[in-house]
Amino acid sequence: MHAKDINMPKPYKLILWDLDNTLFDFDKAEEIALQYAMRKHGLTYDPATTLEAFKIVNLRRWEGLEEKRYTKDEVLVGRFDEFFGEGNVDSRALNADYLWSLGEHKALYPEAEGVVRELHARGYIQSIVTNGAKEVQDACYYNSPIVSLIKTVVISEEVGVAKPDPRIFEIACQRSGWLDKGTTLVVGDSLSSDIAGGQAYGVDTCFFNPSGKGHSAKPTYEIRSLPEILDIL
Ligand SMILES: [Mg+2]
Repeated sequence: MHAKDINMPKPYKLILWDLDNTLFDFDKAEEIALQYAMRKHGLTYDPATTLEAFKIVNLRRWEGLEEKRYTKDEVLVGRFDEFFGEGNVDSRALNADYLWSLGEHKALYPEAEGVVRELHARGYIQSIVTNGAKEVQDACYYNSPIVSLIKTVVISEEVGVAKPDPRIFEIACQRSGWLDKGTTLVVGDSLSSDIAGGQAYGVDTCFFNPSGKGHSAKPTYEIRSLPEILDIL
């Protein structure tokens, strides 16, 4: 779905990808990692309820990071304190086991490698901007086949600002060696961090919306599958 200029596509040069649930399948890894960490700590994982309940707490914490109400530690460790009740579990150790498993199991979506490879062949500069935990993002990214195709990976934990803060996109552009906002495109699955952040920075945005959920945001483009971006670029 092209929101504007359908007959005159912009000549983009820099693509700033989100990582979780855009290039990499976070949801699948999350389920595996939560089961692993809870079982290791002697906690009962109920396939019918635990994951969904954890996702609610987890999402609220990550939104708190976007809104600067929580530090990264209050997201990562604090979510387990909140979920299990403070003092009931060793939340720091539980989180460490969870992150380790997440890094081990988070993998590229099957179609992501081909898309990144094709855009690289077409001469685009591609970088990643992520709010995820550094340890996890490093593990999954460096184990993936797209390392040589990506210019730089900017992790909020490393640079001290998180999406949707426009400064993280500015850092990504600087590190990518491309500062022209008019030819930069942010691609991601989150309206609150990727799309709002890209818009705050002043660049075009592409909302990856595989479930087709309704919304009132106004991304420049919207796609339901990753290969659709090849028609935009
Ligand atoms: Mg995402």
